[in-house]
Amino acid sequence: MSKFYLTTAIPYVNAKPHIGHALEYIQADVIRRYYQEKLGKENVFLVSGADENALKNVQAAEKTGIDIQEFLDINSNVFKKFYQDLGIELSEFRRGTDQKKHWPGVQKLWDLCQKNGDIYKKFYKGLYCVGCEQFYLSKDLKEGKCPNHLKEPEEIEEENYFFKLSKYQDALEKLIVSDKLKIIPVQRKNEILSFIRQGLEDFSISRSNVRAKGIGVPVPGDETQKIYVWFDALNIYMTAVGFGYDQKLWERWWPADLHIVGKDIIRFHCVYWPAMLLSAGLSLPKAVFSHGFITSGGQKMSKTLGNVIDPYELAEKFGFEALRYFLLKEIPPFDDGDITEEKFAKTYQADLANGLGNLVQRVAKLCELKHFVLSPPNPSDPSFPSISSRLENFEFNLALEELWKDFGDLDAKINIDKPWEKSDKEAKNALKIYVEEILKLTLPLSIFLPQTAARIRQIFKGPKISAPSTPLFPRLP
Ligand SMILES: [Zn+2]
Repeated sequence: MSKFYLTTAIPYVNAKPHIGHALEYIQADVIRRYYQEKLGKENVFLVSGADENALKNVQAAEKTGIDIQEFLDINSNVFKKFYQDLGIELSEFRRGTDQKKHWPGVQKLWDLCQKNGDIYKKFYKGLYCVGCEQFYLSKDLKEGKCPNHLKEPEEIEEENYFFKLSKYQDALEKLIVSDKLKIIPVQRKNEILSFIRQGLEDFSISRSNVRAKGIGVPVPGDETQKIYVWFDALNIYMTAVGFGYDQKLWERWWPADLHIVGKDIIRFHCVYWPAMLLSAGLSLPKAVFSHGFITSGGQKMSKTLGNVIDPYELAEKFGFEALRYFLLKEIPPFDDGDITEEKFAKTYQADLANGLGNLVQRVAKLCELKHFVLSPPNPSDPSFPSISSRLENFEFNLALEELWKDFGDLDAKINIDKPWEKSDKEAKNALKIYVEEILKLTLPLSIFLPQTAARIRQIFKGPKISAPSTPLFPRLP
């Protein structure tokens, strides 16, 4: 049976969700809705979760003075609510602290890699950035600091378990070159290939209980060590669909058809993760799509600069549907994009208030004035070929451009027809065409703006049609 299994990245839940999370989750939701139309709702599975066994969570909890587990409970719920607010229905939200449905799978993967001879113990000295939850070589630091966090990493000296990543260098290169593991966009694929070709080094996949502050999944057979957070969290993609506790469920959905991730964590997803799966003899995800970062006013968002754009603040002013629209339309899918409240307001006014909102209001008003009655409309064509290829290529912005061109064409047609100057009979013929066209376009629209599409269908449900008292997208003052 045909299926589509996709995942977002698994967020650390050390802070509340930011606008970059919103971008990723909305992109995932569009893909989910598209494949639901294509394959049927029951054949699509969308997973997210909480990466909880991370030191940065412990540190964040310590700052608040709340007990770590309670802190994780609260923040995981904040994320769960965020998906709901954005209009996203997850099939599963798997938490890293789930000892019943996550830990068995983590230890199982460890065992499989160990049986294949790819896990060994060695004494190690390294530079660790807690913000990144990874070790750095001094050559990769920027003036001695982590290039992402601009903080000096900690010096760690420990005996840890290592994973033989070096053994998989050639296999990984072949998989990626041949697109068996497809990396989108191509500039990220090239980035990963050049990283692999520089030579892969084995990496540490455990830490002492002391350094892990007691949290995390125990290393099988060694009570003194916990499994490294990436080895644990990446596995959420499998444990969310039954790995380690429900073989049938896992076989139904694995391998993932798509991982959606930010560009900062593609190494973990395109190098470490497939290598772990190769070692365990499990099938690999088919594709990784990586989006860029969001800047504000051309700069990285930071509290110091005071340019942080909070998704909830925007949604309060403009609505969640407008937030979905802006992120899909104005943030280029393969690159970094910029957001400011001014830009947001401009797009809102042009495309939503004066564009789609005005068109809907105008046609509904005409129906009302001309006493138009909708006879059952022709069943709309359930396929949307022109945007299918856009969506399968992650070109959300171009898909919306095409859809808005169709709305614009209809608007222009009404201006030429001038139905308000026509006799009632002629006007009704014209209105029937407009209403059917709008209803037809609600199908692709529902993939991007589900609530808006539902409201439009409600307005034009018939038989009598009248203009709503509040337009879909009220104009800004
Ligand atoms: Zn860092």
